[in-house]
Amino acid sequence: VKDDRIARISSTIRVIPDFPKPGIMFQDITTMLLDPVAFKDSIDLFVERYKDKDISVVAGVEARGFIFGPPIALAIGAKFVPMRKPNKLPGISFLPLTSVTFFQFNNSSHRIICYVMSCHVISGAVISEEYSLEYGSDIMEMHVGAVEAGERTLVIDDLIATGGTLVAAINLLERVGANVVECACVIELPDLKGRDRLGDKPLFVLISST
Ligand code: AMP
Repeated sequence: VKDDRIARISSTIRVIPDFPKPGIMFQDITTMLLDPVAFKDSIDLFVERYKDKDISVVAGVEARGFIFGPPIALAIGAKFVPMRKPNKLPGISFLPLTSVTFFQFNNSSHRIICYVMSCHVISGAVISEEYSLEYGSDIMEMHVGAVEAGERTLVIDDLIATGGTLVAAINLLERVGANVVECACVIELPDLKGRDRLGDKPLFVLISST
């Protein structure tokens, strides 16, 4: 992005070497939050890009996607959907949505379908996606029913490194039929080529940090 506001935003991001482990240059956006002008500028840049794109869902990735997502969602008149770490969302976590379809085609008993559907409505079903990190793996979850099939969705996080986190978010949203139109981050670490893992999904970033 070429914009006079970017320099100020960049200057407020603190880089902490070897956090949380040796070799990682941690991009700390909490110092940007201390500068209301820089924080507002970052939100404004996203809002200017997305306000006329007919987006009805902003999906924010825990935890720092929860900082940038809600003000963007409010400004563009979209709902905010949290993409959470495991076992945080209330509800029954028992079936990926694809299994509901499986039941419909493979079991003549409507009772099973009714049971699954009522769990969605009464208890709030949760679907999960496992994804790999640099070391090990993690799980991301969202509520079934938060996003309707076909809704135009923006995924937001503070930073893209390897891209695994955003891929997990895209997969979860597409499993419930969302139309993920773009991913957006404040910072990209282009050396890690996370953008390539997103395939044909567009990625919009304010800052590239080499
Ligand atoms: P990745 O899945 O590899 O793209 O990692 C992105 C996620 O990890 C985001 O939620 C970031 O907040 C976090 N993250 C990864 N690397 C860094 C870094 N160098 N500085 C700050 N956050 C990072």
